[in-house]
Amino acid sequence: MKKVIIRKTEEIENWSKNINSEINFIPTMGNLHNGHIKLISTAKNDNSNVNLVSIFINPLQFDNKLDLENYPKTIDNDIKISFSNGADAIFIPSNEDIYPPNNKNIQFLKAPIELSSALCGLNRIGHFDGVCTVIYRLLDLIKPKNLYLGEKDWQQLLILKNLVQRKKLNVAIKSIPTQRDFDGIPLSSRNVNLSKNERKLIRFFSSELLEAKKIFQQEKKINLNEIIKKLSTKKISIEYLEHLHPYTLKNARIEDNISLLAGAIRCGETRLIDHVFLMKRRPIIAIDGPAGSGKSTVTKLIAKKLKLLYLDTGAMYRALSWLILKENIDYKKEKKLQNILKDISIVFKSNANSHQDVYVNNYCVTEEIRSQKISSIVSKISSIKEVRKFLVEEQRKIGESGGLVAEGRDIGTTVFPHAELKIFLTASIDERAKRRKSDTNSKDSRKIDLDTLKELIKKRDFEDSNREISPLIKANDAIEIITDGCSIKEVVDKIIEFYNDKIPKETEIN
Ligand code: AMP
Repeated sequence: MKKVIIRKTEEIENWSKNINSEINFIPTMGNLHNGHIKLISTAKNDNSNVNLVSIFINPLQFDNKLDLENYPKTIDNDIKISFSNGADAIFIPSNEDIYPPNNKNIQFLKAPIELSSALCGLNRIGHFDGVCTVIYRLLDLIKPKNLYLGEKDWQQLLILKNLVQRKKLNVAIKSIPTQRDFDGIPLSSRNVNLSKNERKLIRFFSSELLEAKKIFQQEKKINLNEIIKKLSTKKISIEYLEHLHPYTLKNARIEDNISLLAGAIRCGETRLIDHVFLMKRRPIIAIDGPAGSGKSTVTKLIAKKLKLLYLDTGAMYRALSWLILKENIDYKKEKKLQNILKDISIVFKSNANSHQDVYVNNYCVTEEIRSQKISSIVSKISSIKEVRKFLVEEQRKIGESGGLVAEGRDIGTTVFPHAELKIFLTASIDERAKRRKSDTNSKDSRKIDLDTLKELIKKRDFEDSNREISPLIKANDAIEIITDGCSIKEVVDKIIEFYNDKIPKETEIN
């Protein structure tokens, strides 16, 4: 494909209309560094779309004339860098192109006050309004499928996600973690203006934030005053240092698993922002839904793709049911049940095919627990109060340090009510019966006719949804996905998209 440089708005509109591909859009203000390169190369590696980089120093987002004048301009080098790292086209408009005088069609937007009045918005009046205005204008001209942004500007990222939602724009936002220089400071176009001493101070600031993150991992708490005290020993002027909820930018709460520690400092003429995410544990995805909704297949694939532990809670109830049947235990007798709960060990182990096997007291039961016999009693057994209490505790122990995707019926409501992402996966009874019938794991189901399977599923749904303890209900904050007519890949991709949208990429970096 011929690489092109476009400078006029009419040209970019034509280019976008006539190009025979979806567009990945990477907006920048130039003086490109490795942070920008990572954005361009991520877009290139994500898909086979055409990659468009824009270079435009947006005057509306500068609250200081001198800052605007001094903003580094290295256009020839930027063109080389963009093309050699995966850009197919570069858009370099002038001020008059983006903001033509007397054009009444240009919308000057306001950033939402809840998000723009915190952090950088406190001192940079109008900055985020300018960001929203220019991105809205560029999106309108280019109509990309994906918009690539850096988490380095976390507040900007939140505000632009909000803009896309508010304006119902048909574009997906993809983000990359903050790229840091060899000495740990975030790469920024403005860094070239730093004196040696300023750079030293900024390095100290960034390393204090990274240190706070490490301490938080162990102690699960943070002392802002201590950090401020340390910074003041270096005469660093702090504009703000805040511990906030990562999405609302309100004060962090005790129950927040992920929170944001963000600061801005001034060194001479230069202002630098940096942040880290503080985490009590790695993220958890909860996937709930009725039998046959595709939970197991989908959850396994998500675990593999996101390198998370796969917790099949249903298999734990089945494993217990298996033992109860095998030992012929009268589970209605409390004492007998207590005895079995006291001694049972249920363990998941990866096998040679990278699948997970289930062991009950060191005996592999992976296949046996899928029999129709187990299916017919598991709902009853899982509705016993003591059983639920015991297995929920076991599941929470497995999830203590997070980093897992769990599937079941009460994960989002009972087991992990603070899971970062909750999905409620469902499908019509017809669809679920068809899937059960063709399930190669379930030999019994294949022998049963479709109508009987439908009746069995209906019965199971009724039992699951009406039991007294932890009934199958959708958590208030769960996202419902109806999987009729969707391929497994479509469902998996959708959930991964929700995950990527919700969880900062930086949380995966130590
Ligand atoms: P700018 O040229 O500063 O407007 O930045 C253009 C895009 O690059 C924005 O989405 C920034 O968040 C992103 N970006 C800039 N610096 C970094 C960095 N160090 N790491 C990750 N993304 C960055």
